Amino acid sequence: METTHFDAIVIGGGAAGLSAAQALGRSLRRTLVIDAGEPRNRFAGHMHNVLGLDGTPPLELLERGREEARAYGVEFLSASVRAVRESGNGLAVEATPHGAGGPTTRTTLTARALIVATGVTDRLPEIAGVAERWGSSILHCPYCHGWEVRGGRLGVLATSPASLHQVKLIRQWSDDVTVFSAGLGELDPETERALVARGMRVERDPVAAVGTAATGEMLVTTEGGASHSIDAIFTASSLQPHDGFLSELGLARTDSPVGSFIAVDMMGRTSHPRVWAAGNVVAPMATVPMAMGAGAGAGGAANWALVEEDFALAIEASESGNA
Ligand SMILES: Cc1cc2nc3c(=O)[nH]c(=O)nc-3n(C[C@H](O)[C@H](O)[C@H](O)COP(=O)(O)OP(=O)(O)OC[C@H]3O[C@@H](n4cnc5c(N)ncnc54)[C@H](O)[C@@H]3O)c2cc1C
Repeated sequence: METTHFDAIVIGGGAAGLSAAQALGRSLRRTLVIDAGEPRNRFAGHMHNVLGLDGTPPLELLERGREEARAYGVEFLSASVRAVRESGNGLAVEATPHGAGGPTTRTTLTARALIVATGVTDRLPEIAGVAERWGSSILHCPYCHGWEVRGGRLGVLATSPASLHQVKLIRQWSDDVTVFSAGLGELDPETERALVARGMRVERDPVAAVGTAATGEMLVTTEGGASHSIDAIFTASSLQPHDGFLSELGLARTDSPVGSFIAVDMMGRTSHPRVWAAGNVVAPMATVPMAMGAGAGAGGAANWALVEEDFALAIEASESGNA
């Protein structure tokens, strides 16, 4: 088993991880990005609400980011991280490289600092026809895709009582909104009055399937057999952070309305002095520019901790040399 030592290892090469890697590379730190290559927005053809890059395909942004980071000496490994352990004055990262050797090959890499930027998985409502339309006609974020479907026949597929926020929000993008409300539970009269007053249709019957009509239109069918022609549906996934490989470190967590996430401060520092985290893995609502900002911040914060450590080590060495 091969072991290579880095100043910093970034786990996850999406918007957050590549931004952290760029900051570290530009700080002359030997940096490795380990990436499994499945960014959350890979289902979408284009990104929006990303200043200066509006309409860019998500994978193009990441390719450009990798090229930029490489120019500053950042190294890359296509692999999935399985575990992270304490290792002397650093951390050991165990990963399964993709491709050669198959899933039993493991490599261990060590680093003084670790940035976790592994994102989340979107668990979609288990309704026929939803998964294959995710990112094209079934969407979650109106700031990302609302403009493109503005004024159309929009649906909101509620998945929990918390979906009321999304239901109200989507009204901003169209006068023609159907609320598939079963996921909200029993609608109180005041809420229903508000939705109807804003011209929204409420369909209480649970959705059975999303399909395509002979005309090519998207058709939402309810369990009772009603059909609705809809141009785009917004729905909320449940979010699963990719952080299981950190379990041995026992990092502090924080509970949020959308689940339990590793706790970080403003600069992405976790409860472990050598571990930072950024992007969706700790901030599930973060969009691409927010993930980029958090990654750049975490990269800078990790470099600063290494600067402080370099001074402490130099003092230690000079004192032991003088002794
Ligand atoms: C359908 C869809 C469309 C979207 N459209 C937009 C948009 O238009 N504009 C916008 O601003 N935002 C959009 N978003 C949100 C956007 O996807 C996120 O903000 C962004 O991806 C977060 O970046 P990240 O770096 O935190 O995570 P990700 O981009 O998800 O990157 C995480 C990376 O870590 C890797 N990884 C995970 N686990 C491991 C492991 N154990 N070992 C190694 N690597 C691992 C993953 O494979 C992935 O490559 C969209 C989201 C979805 C679902």
